[in-house]
Amino acid sequence: MAVRYALPFLLLCLFSGPAVCADLLRALWGQEELAGAPLDRLQGRTHAPDDTPPERTGPNLVLPPRDGAEAVRRVALPPGVRLAALTFDLCELADRRAGYDAELANLLRRERIPATFFAGGRWLQSHPEQALQLMADPLFELGNHGWTHGNMAVLDADGRREQLLWTQAQYELLREELTRRARAAGLPESAVAAPGALTAFRPPYGRCTPASLAGTAALGLRTVTWDVVADEMNPDAEAAARDLAARVRPGSIVLLHANGVPPHTARIVELALPLLRARGFSFVTVEKLLDAGRAETSAECFFNRPGDNLFLDRAYGDGTRHPKKTD
Ligand SMILES: [Zn+2]
Repeated sequence: MAVRYALPFLLLCLFSGPAVCADLLRALWGQEELAGAPLDRLQGRTHAPDDTPPERTGPNLVLPPRDGAEAVRRVALPPGVRLAALTFDLCELADRRAGYDAELANLLRRERIPATFFAGGRWLQSHPEQALQLMADPLFELGNHGWTHGNMAVLDADGRREQLLWTQAQYELLREELTRRARAAGLPESAVAAPGALTAFRPPYGRCTPASLAGTAALGLRTVTWDVVADEMNPDAEAAARDLAARVRPGSIVLLHANGVPPHTARIVELALPLLRARGFSFVTVEKLLDAGRAETSAECFFNRPGDNLFLDRAYGDGTRHPKKTD
């Protein structure tokens, strides 16, 4: 924690009331700590797979089962409402530490763009400080992206359950840490606005089956995919931004990444934002988008067309390991 910020913050809090007191993020981290560094985006080297569970293998807060097991792809909005949700996956497999795209988070904060981050449990565990910052930021919401990026169409029921619940548990541990830090800074527990449990799940590889969808709903999580896949690997960021901006529709959910693996994401988003704003779009989290309309769902999970991600079952097996074992 940035102790040097705590005292001025507390004084400000005393004299300014709850709006300022609620700014947990700025109370706990200084500007430089939040800004991170370009090197944060680098991945580690491949290592022996680590399949150990988090400190707690089940969350204390268990959600009630959800009705309806289909995957949300987009949201039908009332006429004239031009909202879209940018979503960023934070994937981490069992055999390599992923990165954190600080540049992207800085851009979203600077431009005041709400966003949803679907975080792998292992990513949360290996990036606790960045995870806490995302959780403390009222602009952002987090979702579950599986413990070690397991493919829900390949894993058995126990494996799927571990992917979901271990991530729920890791989130809960971090939320407890955030609450401890808020208290230590003299803030009330209500300053922690992050919910007690993650309520949305983004299936790794965009793979699901009727059984995995039902199992996810039974654990109280709503499966959320996307209707727009950004062309993040395109080295021509301007072309990728134009293409992205042209394909977003009112109610769209856009798939992007914040784990530093696609190299151009921040630049593509930076270039796409003015184009989308010129088309009248503003941005909300997935939860807010769902509140604004009616979910359009699918019994299948896919990138752009049903079946277009089936090949990943063969390429990645259960999905928790990189197919190449050396860098
Ligand atoms: Zn992923």
